[in-house]
Amino acid sequence: MPRTAPSLEKLREITAEIPTPFHLYDAAGIRKNVTSLQQAFSWNQGFKEYFAVKATPNAAILQLLKDQGCGVDCSSYTELLLADAMGFRGHEIMFSSNVTSAEEYQLARKLGAIINLDDISHIDFLAENGGIPEDICLRFNPGGDFKLGTTVMGDPGEAKYGLTPQQMPVAINRLKELGAKRFGIHSFLASNTTDSDYYPTLAKILFELVVDLHKQCDAEFFLVNLSGGIGIPYKPGLPNADLEYIGSKVHAAYEQTIGTSGMKDLAVVAELGRFITGPNAWLIATALHHKDIHKQYVGLDASAVNLLRPAMYGAYHHITVAGKEDAALDHVYDVTGSLCENNDKFAIDRELPEIEIGDLVVIHDTGAHGHSMGYNYNGKLRSAEVLLEEDGSFRMIRRAETPRDYFATIAGFEVTEDLGKPELDPLKQGDATSA
Ligand SMILES: *Cc1c(COP(=O)(O)O)cnc(C)c1O
Repeated sequence: MPRTAPSLEKLREITAEIPTPFHLYDAAGIRKNVTSLQQAFSWNQGFKEYFAVKATPNAAILQLLKDQGCGVDCSSYTELLLADAMGFRGHEIMFSSNVTSAEEYQLARKLGAIINLDDISHIDFLAENGGIPEDICLRFNPGGDFKLGTTVMGDPGEAKYGLTPQQMPVAINRLKELGAKRFGIHSFLASNTTDSDYYPTLAKILFELVVDLHKQCDAEFFLVNLSGGIGIPYKPGLPNADLEYIGSKVHAAYEQTIGTSGMKDLAVVAELGRFITGPNAWLIATALHHKDIHKQYVGLDASAVNLLRPAMYGAYHHITVAGKEDAALDHVYDVTGSLCENNDKFAIDRELPEIEIGDLVVIHDTGAHGHSMGYNYNGKLRSAEVLLEEDGSFRMIRRAETPRDYFATIAGFEVTEDLGKPELDPLKQGDATSA
């Protein structure tokens, strides 16, 4: 069930200072999810949540997570820079990238991050670009279908990530030759699943593989990384992932495999993004227009550039209208943004209360892969992000983009006015053809 949004009164207090649209994050909710995850895995000494930065790459959110004892999972040069700037050090940074550049590996090595290699060919590439560390991790792709019981959860055979089962021992032996001493293993086989058997099933596969590789290659292991993938109930009626169950089932799988193998204890870690922040933010927008043609539309001041998931995946995001939470759902609307793209719809044929122009429309579960997937199509600008604290205070943790930001990268243009509407001085357009 999506979380209840702050009251109309609170939202009006915020919009009096910060214009819509913006993503509103709930600090208490984020802290609570981290704590329950840590409790579920407290049986494992080395457990750490490496928050997947790509889900919500905001300094204030990362600070909050750091204060809770989280590390970060980065996948790009910029995310590594952000992690470093926020004070994450050494093994507090996981680097799970793919199609990695030389510069990215060099920076990851300089920061002392745990490197999670995506391919066997990256071994020699890393040796030449940063060097092979003593502790290193490999991403595993079992191929075929990934099933939970009889349900196919994923299609690793079609996924671009990781090393095959045959490549794993070859990679470990090569890494040992190049000086690696301790190994980790990682896999990500299902995304956004609320099936609580996902982590336990994945964990068992990885623990068995570790025991096997330990014997086969005489290799020491320090880490099993269960990565991301625990989902959230975007739709009303869907269950929450049962963390207590997940933690205890992973524990049981650990005892059966690593526990009986004679191997040293190893850390079991996670790289969750969505589960931590996803349910704990709302995109707050204002209803701008009604349109009554073949269907009834409500147009918002937010669009797919602020939340791409519905347009990209047809993803469901729950919608409520502030102050009308208990009103009858006696209208059916398509709720849209303003892009010149017909898929710019937050909801299609959605039963909602009557929406009036000026109403605050609340789109739920936007805290992960929301703002961060934003873009600038149609000259639309990314929105602000606001953090709501437990005591009801709030602060802007990212300002909205202005036209100045949009024009900043265009060669030959100089914005001469620092206003919402910049004047482009044609005399400063260099070689660009004038309109
Ligand atoms: C995206 C990603 C995650 C986080 O996934 P969620 O679904 O947000 O939990 C973790 N690890 C890697 C390598 C990823 O690509």
